[in-house]
Amino acid sequence: MKANFHTHTTWCDGKDTPRAVAESAMAKGFDCLGFSSHAMLPGRFLDWALTPEKAPLYAADIRALAAEYAGRLRILCGVEADWLEGEAEPSYAAYSPVAPDYIIGSVHFIRTAGGNVAEVDKSPESMEASVRDFFGSDVRAFVEAYFKAVRESLAFDFDIVGHPDLVRKFNAGGRYFDETAPWYVKAMENTADAIASSGKIVEINTGAISRGWLDDAYPSAAFRAMLRERGVRFVLSADAHSASAIDCAFDRFSGCETLVPGEIA
Ligand SMILES: [Zn+2]
Ligand SMILES: [Zn+2]
Repeated sequence: MKANFHTHTTWCDGKDTPRAVAESAMAKGFDCLGFSSHAMLPGRFLDWALTPEKAPLYAADIRALAAEYAGRLRILCGVEADWLEGEAEPSYAAYSPVAPDYIIGSVHFIRTAGGNVAEVDKSPESMEASVRDFFGSDVRAFVEAYFKAVRESLAFDFDIVGHPDLVRKFNAGGRYFDETAPWYVKAMENTADAIASSGKIVEINTGAISRGWLDDAYPSAAFRAMLRERGVRFVLSADAHSASAIDCAFDRFSGCETLVPGEIA
């Protein structure tokens, strides 16, 4: 089955409309297309995410499109929901106005011990500022806090673990930390154990390839191997922010199992 469940559109920070993405999926021979607008609870970062006001309109728009394309392309309405302690939970209860078909649970921000919010993936500069201002310039502490937040997120009822090592985004060539260091390997192992226990699916996310940050997916090859060893299942995901990117680098991961979220026994 050719499918992508991680798709952003003009409803959040994507470039193209849902219709333009659906047309691209048809042209590329997709069987299934899932939309996953960024979704945050009220209070923060709303310029690139669904607002509480927009959420039901988004759902109605995607459902109408699904009805229109029925029989030609299966369209699902999902959300990419953040875990940010005290502000956002990746759960069905939190997103009841959307009544999503599935939820991708992602961590883009870390609540620090001091109660601040560290940005993970906005830009190298914002990441550096987070490490400097909230972690005393200790990159290891920042990375470990990221993986800890991913493990915490697993307590909520979502389906797909989104980019579980997003913290690598700006780390091409080991610019900020060594991904073979024992402490980093341990952080991956602890997280792989927690994911395996949760029974959740992990996405193999090619979004850093399409945007030129990395030449590999999230999770990294080493992290994927750990997850596979523990019996974790994967979906292939583009994290597309444009209609043309919905199958970016999929040929490199063609051995990956593709499952329809919510229909997994
Ligand atoms: Zn994300
Ligand atoms: Zn995304």
